Amino acid sequence: MQTTVDGLVADGLDLGFPLQRKELERAQMKRLRQTIEHARCHSSLYRKRFSALDVDALIESKDLAQLPFLTGADVVERGHQLHCVSQSEVVRIITMYTSGSTGKPKRFSFTAADLAATSEFFLRGMASLVDQTDRVLVILPFATEASVGGLLVAALLRGGIRATGLWPPPDVSLVSELIHARKITSVVGLPQQLLALSSWVGHGQLRTMLLCSDYAAESLRRRIEQNCGCQTFLHYGATESGLGGAVECSQHCGVHIRESDLLVEIVDSTTGEQLADGLSGEIVLTTIGREAMPLIRYRTGDVATLERGRCACGGVTARLCQMYGRLQDCTLADGSVISSQYLDDILYQVVGLVDYRVTLSRGDVERLDLEYIADSGAKEVGREIDQLLRMLPEIAPMLGAKDSLPKNMQQVERFASTHTLKRTILDLR
Ligand SMILES: [Zn+2]
Repeated sequence: MQTTVDGLVADGLDLGFPLQRKELERAQMKRLRQTIEHARCHSSLYRKRFSALDVDALIESKDLAQLPFLTGADVVERGHQLHCVSQSEVVRIITMYTSGSTGKPKRFSFTAADLAATSEFFLRGMASLVDQTDRVLVILPFATEASVGGLLVAALLRGGIRATGLWPPPDVSLVSELIHARKITSVVGLPQQLLALSSWVGHGQLRTMLLCSDYAAESLRRRIEQNCGCQTFLHYGATESGLGGAVECSQHCGVHIRESDLLVEIVDSTTGEQLADGLSGEIVLTTIGREAMPLIRYRTGDVATLERGRCACGGVTARLCQMYGRLQDCTLADGSVISSQYLDDILYQVVGLVDYRVTLSRGDVERLDLEYIADSGAKEVGREIDQLLRMLPEIAPMLGAKDSLPKNMQQVERFASTHTLKRTILDLR
């Protein structure tokens, strides 16, 4: 079955269906030129940046390389200069707190039309994994109507699909009870939460799951699918992409981008040069058609490859593959580099592992400690993690001498408050 994103993009760009790649790219570039005119007309920052630009010379996506990048720091420092509509037209502002030294947040504004485009993507993108016979549980922030969980539930209800939201999620056993009581067949949430849920909920209750907002290792996906017999789908999205961005089709070979709203490039994160399809680099987003605060060549810091060839599903919308999220590398004493994504790929093979946190410290020697949460009844998780890590030459020396009770592995009920958020490596060296 072809991706439902193709239909969305055809409608969004006023193109016929089935979509043709050449026509799609031509229509995208036309919308890009309109977006730049809109930005140059209404935003003081873009007016300055694009004052000498010949907009009509932007014909193909490679021509984007002439435009300067927009960074997270630009949004922090000069976000108000990116606004292209009056305050009264802004219906939603999303504030993101960054870990940068200034502590200043990034703020992104959206008009009703901007959110409507997201809502349309949510509804049609979800059609990859649910239909009107499903009941969907959305375990995502749900505080306001325009938060991501609220928007997704509203979009599904609008499409006649039964959906309900739950945030913050209670204990996994209670979520599992709710799934059985309400005959839920599909769940949307964070990869680790869905992994924990998959071993509680039992085989056969859930048909599909959508994993979002964080890196989902292949090993973690396989464990979810083995635990509960459901099919998993990936989503790529961030506040910058308008919450929604791209979703997997039934062939599971990359997430199809909503190209009627987003133009994606992959660049070398050091040189900034555009990379060919299939090469791994940083995702650069350009929002086309966004009203309130268009982002033109925004550097996300996320890593992936881009594929513009036809997908096995028959769809022609471009796909992001090998998505690694934001790489936060740690360089070890021997010069080798590790990241939480690298550790996820290895450690989620361990049956019973639900989540973990790594701390690097330095006394006389460099040391790695790991706290983990495991399924109840899983007894060998610490030992298996220890064994896997000892097979990695860069990490083995940081674990000290081998012991029948792995000294650096500690099972916990919950993580220390300093280390509760994502699986970033806490570096105390
Ligand atoms: Zn596909």
